[in-house]
Amino acid sequence: MNILVINAGSSSLKYQLIEMDKSEVLAKGIVERIGLENTKITQNCEGKPTFELVRDMEDHSEAIADVIKALTSAEYGCISSMNEIDAVGHRVLHAGMHYSASTIITEDVKRVIRDCFDLGPLHNPANLIGIEACEKVIPGIKQVAVFDTAFGQSMDKKAYTYAIPYEYYEKYFIRRYGFHGISHMYVSNRTIQVANLDKDNAKVIVCHLGNGSSISASIGGKCVDTSMGLTPLEGLVMGTRSGDIDPAVVQFIANKENRTVDEVLDILNKKSGVLGISDISSDFRDLTNAAEEGNERARLALDMFIYRAKKYIGSYIAIMGGVDAIVFTAGIGENDKIMRKAIIDGFQFMNIEIDDVKNNIRGEEAIISTDASNTLVMVIPTNEELKIAQETQALM
Ligand code: ADP
Repeated sequence: MNILVINAGSSSLKYQLIEMDKSEVLAKGIVERIGLENTKITQNCEGKPTFELVRDMEDHSEAIADVIKALTSAEYGCISSMNEIDAVGHRVLHAGMHYSASTIITEDVKRVIRDCFDLGPLHNPANLIGIEACEKVIPGIKQVAVFDTAFGQSMDKKAYTYAIPYEYYEKYFIRRYGFHGISHMYVSNRTIQVANLDKDNAKVIVCHLGNGSSISASIGGKCVDTSMGLTPLEGLVMGTRSGDIDPAVVQFIANKENRTVDEVLDILNKKSGVLGISDISSDFRDLTNAAEEGNERARLALDMFIYRAKKYIGSYIAIMGGVDAIVFTAGIGENDKIMRKAIIDGFQFMNIEIDDVKNNIRGEEAIISTDASNTLVMVIPTNEELKIAQETQALM
């Protein structure tokens, strides 16, 4: 079975064609600048030269039609006709409280995605456009929506409710939803498989540390808490996002700097985090280099990132009453051994410890804790596309 995985953004569309028997990526590509001049497709198929096409594409339907041509091209493609695509799996950001699992796309599902535009204003409209473009270009094909918020739906009410007047939850569904859910779902399940943990009771903490970062706690693969909230702004210190702050800071900055609430939120989303503290970069490689050269604000930014991550891990161990595995994933989690070591350092009192030799890896599945460690510490590279394809296959 071949599944086309689509992650549609407002002006871009990432895709992978995955052969499910061997979980093999047949093709991987991206369309950039959709709706602008010089739209560009770049595609790589195993054993074929890189395909590149630059031409103006007005909308996502045109982009998908060109993607199908690229996939079926004799010179650059990997299938001979679009009949070899068995289903399409879409990444969809927000399903509000409507879906706690992936679902086959129907008119009702599209209505829910539309109803959640308010909750995911940057992503849901683009996701829906991607779905409708596929309906047009590949009519009759089965399509599945895999929601980033589905993983968080298993949280208990006391974990997801904000302590604000309850009417706001009832009227506007304001609550913790959590994001990076597809990654947390994939990594927590993969951890249970790789480490052969009890699939119903394993207590797993996943640290998804990338440009956006979040930590989740799950029992038996079901989320019990996660650090992002109504939006991805809550939780850890991130590349450009502040994570947790006192909400009164918003009013304070707005008054002092004569800014609107929207402007302050933009600062908290795009100009804060390690970028805002260091004034250097949101990229951890730049920050590590700067800190090594003695830049104090780069050091402070890294220390704050580590400190906040530790706080979340500690609190999740407390709410679960223990932890079987702490797992690192995404750009920083998979590649940065110094960050992994610094975050776990201090948990020796619970007999949780990293082995420096085992920790000396990048981007591969591994147990990096000492043999004596009570809790496994692991690296599991995330694979959201494969998870979307697996969810899609399961519904076929
Ligand atoms: P996102 O998907 O949220 O954009 P990624 O998961 O790709 O982000 O992570 C990107 C981040 O990972 C970069 O900003 C960088 O800080 C970090 N990163 C990537 N490679 C390395 C590395 N070798 N060492 C340290 N940090 C790295």
